[in-house]
Amino acid sequence: MNASILIVGSVEFHATLLDRLHYLATCSVEVIPSTREVMSSIQVKKPDLLIFSANQASSWEICRMVKQNSSLAWIYCIFVSDQPAEALSEILPGWNWELGLRAAALEVGADACCWLSSKKDNCKIAEAEWRLQNWLLTSQIQTGIRQVEIYRNLMQSNDYLSAIALADPLTELSNRRALDWELPRQINNARTRSTPLSLLILDVDYFKSVNDTHGHLVGDRVLQLLSARLRHNLRFQDTPFRYGGEELVIILNNTKLTEAKLVAERINFLIATQPFMIDKKLALKITVSIGVATLKANDDDQGVSLLDRADQNLLKAKSSGRNRVVAQPEEGD
Ligand code: GH3
Ligand code: MG
Ligand code: MG
Repeated sequence: MNASILIVGSVEFHATLLDRLHYLATCSVEVIPSTREVMSSIQVKKPDLLIFSANQASSWEICRMVKQNSSLAWIYCIFVSDQPAEALSEILPGWNWELGLRAAALEVGADACCWLSSKKDNCKIAEAEWRLQNWLLTSQIQTGIRQVEIYRNLMQSNDYLSAIALADPLTELSNRRALDWELPRQINNARTRSTPLSLLILDVDYFKSVNDTHGHLVGDRVLQLLSARLRHNLRFQDTPFRYGGEELVIILNNTKLTEAKLVAERINFLIATQPFMIDKKLALKITVSIGVATLKANDDDQGVSLLDRADQNLLKAKSSGRNRVVAQPEEGD
């Protein structure tokens, strides 16, 4: 079994569990006697299962915190009491402590609970009951492991689907959906930290004639090579997206207009001066036009006006001859 189990309780409590459940030895089991360190330890190394000693008063609050934390709530939590009824009476007042244990466990969001009679009570309980208790706890642990396995598989599929949903299959750049999500986030970060944010819109010049002359497969290959060249030459804070057909957007984090213009000119040069080799046969000279804009205080949070300003500059680059950068500052830039 490949499950990781964290036991929150005393060394004696751990010994009792190991004594009763020999198969726990095949899991990766850790014990944390000091409940002060439990939350930080769980955050760092998320276990599949948490087994709490019901007799440790702080266990209840830790379980509640785990279940209220959306990134930890999937951890399967089991409360186990290995003390006789009297020892529990302070934590669980009432004559029917078994019912009390269940209610308290449910209240803090635990997934299961059970009780084990202590060693000294052994002689009093029938052998069958002893085995039943072990069986119940084992089943609860196995149920927990199955549930966590299902959750982890779901999360893996989720990550995979998110990656597909946000990537452009042709160029392997992030797609328009990713930009719609990322741009407002970057705008928010820039405003919170009072750092500049700029944006480039790049459009391939006369791309239709590439398709018309050499075919769409060659056009596709140009887009792939151009995207790869960009990816390898951008600074770490620059994020490229495929905005549409042969248009790309690049978010330049922590970048002022003057720096953004330099980045755009470098990209323009990088593309215009090195032809793209298609199947080692055809060397295609490509140029791009680039519009630049920088975030202003009165821009909207979604980035619509910022994108529009960069687009207006791209149109100016096109109408003034193509193969150039326009970063015309407006009032306030
Ligand atoms: P301009 O300099 O004004 O930008 O001229 P252009 O020819 O690049 O502009 P236009 O918008 O007329 O043409 C863009 C072309 O890009 C048309 C479209 O078929 C092509 N295109 C868009 N997406 C793809 C793609 O994924 N693969 C290929 N091969 N072509 C594409
Ligand atoms: Mg074009
Ligand atoms: Mg275009």
